[in-house]
Amino acid sequence: MNQAFTDEQQNYLKGFMAGVEARRGSLAPAGGAAGGAPADAMRAAQDATIARGGKLTAEEKAKREKHPLDRWDEVVARAEQGRFPHGVDNLLTRWHGLFFVGPTQDAFMCRLRIPGGIITTHQFRGIAAIAEECGGGYTDVTNRCNLQIRMIPADKGPEVIERLGEIGILPKGTGADNIRNISATPTAGIDPHEIIDVRPVVRALHFHILHTRDLFGLPRKFNISFDGGGRIPVLEDTADVAFTAVRVEGEALFRLALGGITGHKDFARDTGVVLPPGDAVKVSDAILRVFIANGDRTDRRKARLKYVLDAWGFDRFIAEVEKQLGAPLRRAENSVDFSAQEKHGHLGVHDQKQEGLQYIGLTLPMARVTAERMRGIAAIADRHGSGNLRLTPWQNILIIDIPREAMPQVQAEIVALGLGWEASHIRGGLVACTGAAGCKFAAAHTKQHGAALTDYLDARIAVPQPVNIHLTGCHNSCAQHYIGDIGLIGAKVERGEEEVEGYDLHVGGGAGSQQRIGRLVRPKVAHDELGPMVLNLLRAWAEEDPEASFHDFA
Ligand code: SF4
Repeated sequence: MNQAFTDEQQNYLKGFMAGVEARRGSLAPAGGAAGGAPADAMRAAQDATIARGGKLTAEEKAKREKHPLDRWDEVVARAEQGRFPHGVDNLLTRWHGLFFVGPTQDAFMCRLRIPGGIITTHQFRGIAAIAEECGGGYTDVTNRCNLQIRMIPADKGPEVIERLGEIGILPKGTGADNIRNISATPTAGIDPHEIIDVRPVVRALHFHILHTRDLFGLPRKFNISFDGGGRIPVLEDTADVAFTAVRVEGEALFRLALGGITGHKDFARDTGVVLPPGDAVKVSDAILRVFIANGDRTDRRKARLKYVLDAWGFDRFIAEVEKQLGAPLRRAENSVDFSAQEKHGHLGVHDQKQEGLQYIGLTLPMARVTAERMRGIAAIADRHGSGNLRLTPWQNILIIDIPREAMPQVQAEIVALGLGWEASHIRGGLVACTGAAGCKFAAAHTKQHGAALTDYLDARIAVPQPVNIHLTGCHNSCAQHYIGDIGLIGAKVERGEEEVEGYDLHVGGGAGSQQRIGRLVRPKVAHDELGPMVLNLLRAWAEEDPEASFHDFA
């Protein structure tokens, strides 16, 4: 490396070169775009559906009429008229990262794209400014290591997208039938336990997706996730494509699992395939092309990857992927090891693999952070760290690269911001979707009820081990209620003549080493009756078998 570069610049260049290496020779798979397939894979798949006598859904017809990526001029024109998109226009505008979320909020929500949750303080400050000047003055951290800006007026939508682009945040395809933000181990590159530093491959795949038109316009949404083997669980087995780092005869490889969609009660299932990190982009590309060509475009309820796998079986699907790649994939015995994971490792102070450095995981009430606090967090990361932050699937933020001796000062500055890094075994694992405050599908105010539930429980019980509580407002399962130790899905509950907000109560779910779909123990519990009911469950566990995890007890 050139001696004139600073350490930070050298690290950036190293990461960049590793990304180039990950892409090299990988983007022209036999049968792919460069192998003679039509330029627009979505249209070719629609043509094939029609040729088989299938009737395209209304959404597919709209996508077919004019490619949604070519509709930016319409987005701008509507903004100039101060109008929001409705109906199918609302779906198509999501190709550009903007969601009209009426009638709940008369506003756009912008879902960003922050691959692996890796973000610089420069970007974080820029997003804070955009949220303040064009939105509600805050961002929400999502469980795909991502951020959302809310309360954006109709005329500000394009400005948000343009200003995000200026700081290197490109929200193209973050909604509708596209590949969502890539989630990954939030401690990539700093975790003493990691098997693979996933940053280069996440970056390479992120840009491959953004720059490959064929990969926009899938049958339905699509999630890809990488677990490099670190301390913080990534929940990759809830994704359509899950890469989990393993060691096979001393070699660090990814193990491939497919078809996760926990809202449909299915985890990504092991394929038996292992691959080197440098092949992950081309293997992802091949999987996507098989899905794009063969996913169901006549019934959106059956349009996710899981349903191709269910119809074909894994052997046939992998054979098609190999055909697409023009080469066989390698198989190995399953050797996934989750022993490094800590259930609430996303909170508190932890040593990094770099001698003398630590990271600190902040608690964020209701996963929301104001623009002012964003600037405060960025200032701490600049003053004491390397100017880098990470977002986790547990809806919180890590400040990284802090010298051990600076940590007390960092903690004092975090307290001064009104934030913290410690939480009870209950509060530390609370995950809630947007809920009725910002989503028209929600049957309940998930974030508010989650906060009230943890307040109630924390005042009455100190449980012996971490417990994860997931609340979602509807069956779309954005906060993955089926994998919580306690999982709550919004439901309307009759109370006399009235209808009140409540939840179907599930217990015993988990992911990774505790993989299990939660079971329904009580339907339709009113939100104000949740506290006593969950408290009884936790007391029964704490009294009967505190040595076991709640997951095992349940
Ligand atoms: Fe909205 Fe349902 Fe997703 Fe919650 S789970 S954010 S209610 S779509």
